[in-house]
Amino acid sequence: MSEITTFDLIVIGAGPGGYVAAIRAAQLGMKVAVVEKRATLGGVCLNEGCIPSKALLDSSELFALARDRFALHGIGIETPRLDLGVMMQRKDDVVKKLTEGIAYLFKKNGIERIHGAASLTGRNPVGHHQVDVKPEQVATAVTLTAPKVIVATGSEASGLPGMPFDGQIVVSAREALSFDAVPEHLIIAGGGYIGLEMGSVWRRLGARVTVMEMLPQILPTMDRQAADALYRSLRKQGIQFRLGTRITGIRRTDSKAVVHFDAGTGSEEIDCDKLLVAVGRRPLTAGLGLEGLGVKLDERGRVVIDCDYQTTIPGIYAIGDLVPGPMLAHKASDEGVVCVERMAGHHSVVEYEYIPGVVYTWPEGAIVGQTEEQLKESGITYKAGRFNFAALGRARCMDETEGFVKILADAENDRILGIHIVGPRASDLIAEAATVMSFCGSAGDIALMCHAHPTLSEAIREAALDVHNEAIHV
Ligand code: FAD
Repeated sequence: MSEITTFDLIVIGAGPGGYVAAIRAAQLGMKVAVVEKRATLGGVCLNEGCIPSKALLDSSELFALARDRFALHGIGIETPRLDLGVMMQRKDDVVKKLTEGIAYLFKKNGIERIHGAASLTGRNPVGHHQVDVKPEQVATAVTLTAPKVIVATGSEASGLPGMPFDGQIVVSAREALSFDAVPEHLIIAGGGYIGLEMGSVWRRLGARVTVMEMLPQILPTMDRQAADALYRSLRKQGIQFRLGTRITGIRRTDSKAVVHFDAGTGSEEIDCDKLLVAVGRRPLTAGLGLEGLGVKLDERGRVVIDCDYQTTIPGIYAIGDLVPGPMLAHKASDEGVVCVERMAGHHSVVEYEYIPGVVYTWPEGAIVGQTEEQLKESGITYKAGRFNFAALGRARCMDETEGFVKILADAENDRILGIHIVGPRASDLIAEAATVMSFCGSAGDIALMCHAHPTLSEAIREAALDVHNEAIHV
């Protein structure tokens, strides 16, 4: 027997796309249900993505600072000892607090939370979409109906052909966030942001880390100068890179594995105790019944949507990692807000060109707007300004002198087209860049703004001044 309940909006998936859409929809007066198949809210981001990875990045950074840098500041300590269990517990506590926080927000906003796997099964006699929920814990199957459904089921890790994840040796980021011991040798397939962040964590904690990347460079979507600077820095930290290298197979031996690869000079092999596959993620559409209803997917399996986030079937919407655009939590959340605001008749839009991207290595890398390579390719004339953190007072005080800020501005009207930062707290600094760019600001605008001294943000002003060869501290 199935219980039927009607809502204004059903959201499938409680990741940063779905849960934010649900809260905003409730604020706008809609009666909302959220169906989530995992026991906790927050999706990949909170449970096995952004948050646990940053918790471990922060912990491992403190460990590495204590081990490698305290002496430089005149602080003498015994060699720090790693208690991995405590570090993992702290990470789990951070995740727990945040996922429980979303449950609280759901209650506060009167959102019905349903635990189970949802699928779309067609329309009921009044034309509403029907969502069947296969219960995880309750005995009764539930059928929900609503005129509008947002599908926000996110993505899953892609594997290497012929080398399926086994959860033990061939693992995804999910397992790499919870290893119970520091691997002796961790091989990472993929030099993108997930691979480099997880590689940084385990390198700082003492693992030998080798990153194998098929392309001749890491972070292929980043500005070349920025990606190269990060590459040099990560190598200095002891991460080994094999670029232009394709993993061709893996052979398991007891608790280890032999990875076969080809770097263009024939087949080679190397031992490891873990192979983290971080070669990308693919949209999670299986089992939702989308194809059966006629919801169109593109050649990469992403859901095709219009400017209202509506799929090819009226009343069914899709947001987040499921749809084209960068697979980022803040992009998913912005789409969630804009999607429901447009349902409510607002004229909201996501400004895709100003979505920042960050790699949380140390130094961090952050980008908003276009890269120098993209500008060259599209024939846009630009001026570049650059300022190195080595010349900045605050960076010297912090002993964080690696990296730079680079600003690319339109040669004709000075409007900023891209800002690229490699350096300390680039993740926070990029907010100024995104703000100025989304107000269509120019390099001259940043140059006029008073920046507090001594702060890292002064590097942004100096780079803006440098666009016109007026930087003071160069
Ligand atoms: P998801 O977060 O994937 O949520 C989808 C939810 O839908 C899941 O909880 C899933 O259980 C549920 N679901 C799926 N199918 C069903 C179904 N049939 N019924 C019910 N529920 C279902 N992004 C950043 O911006 N910054 C970062 O620092 C960052 N770090 C990352 C680190 C790692 C290791 C990983 C893996 C990802 C990281 N990301 C980061 C990417 C980010 O996590 C995703 O872009 C984001 O979570 C996408 O949000 P979403 O709402 O589209 O989907």
